[in-house]
Amino acid sequence: RTVYVNGDYLPEGEAKVSVFDRGFLMADGVYEVTSVLGGRLIDFDGHAARLDRSLTELGMTMPMAAEDLRGIHRELVARNGVEDGMVYLQITRGAPADRDFAYPPQDTPQTVVLFTQNKPGLADSPAARTGIRVISIDDRRWGRRDIKTVQLLYPSMGKMMAKAAGADDAWMVEDGHVTEGTSNNAYIVAGGTIVTRDLGDHILSGITRAAVLRFAREAQMKVEERAFTIAEAQAADEAFITSASTFVMPVVAIDGAPIGDGTPGPVARRLREIYFEESRKAAS
Ligand code: PLP
Repeated sequence: RTVYVNGDYLPEGEAKVSVFDRGFLMADGVYEVTSVLGGRLIDFDGHAARLDRSLTELGMTMPMAAEDLRGIHRELVARNGVEDGMVYLQITRGAPADRDFAYPPQDTPQTVVLFTQNKPGLADSPAARTGIRVISIDDRRWGRRDIKTVQLLYPSMGKMMAKAAGADDAWMVEDGHVTEGTSNNAYIVAGGTIVTRDLGDHILSGITRAAVLRFAREAQMKVEERAFTIAEAQAADEAFITSASTFVMPVVAIDGAPIGDGTPGPVARRLREIYFEESRKAAS
């Protein structure tokens, strides 16, 4: 597999990053995951815009124009023959000579890394037909979840807690309300209304979330962006998650309680179809 590191396309075994890289030492970096369907990038513009924002919030800047980043994404997709899968992009504050909590000078070169993952049949995963099961856990992450940092240890722990409980993922709860899934946004459907957490520094502003809410509103579905509880979710007609790697994925149980009749609901299934149709049309 070919990867991209700081201007070079290299076989993955030859790519190198410094041991002093602040991404490695301090999780001082941000990332994006863009899905690939039919060899084309889904929602790239949204991912580039969020990347710019994440960098700005951390006092960094885009390493190059969004169009040039798109070019690298496309080049890797082509070189690695990715039909369905994803492109991972990571930018860290680089590798100053010494470890120090203070940021290094602004002219320290950033570390820019991209790689692809091939996932044949990504759009057609069996989990979408059965739905997934989630548990609820405390949200113990830091307070700037709107920045897409590479600081992912608590979400990893959450995934392991879900696995240990025989579930697929975890929804995180803070002050009695669901924030989001470990790597996705969380939704319920109750009385025909789609409910998902309002934006702020407590959740990541999902690129898939933005697209799905836009498509839902265009299809005259009712949408409410507000906090909801696990009890409200368990009593809902449907539940689902969205992310670049799962698109729209039905949730059929929360903490062991079946949602609706315990199978993927009609709203989630319809939104999944609309999302594929619309995002493929706009793919680049
Ligand atoms: N929330 C969190 C915590 C995430 O890590 C992700 C994706 O990785 C999302 C939501 C979904 O965002 P997107 O739709 O942009 O993939």
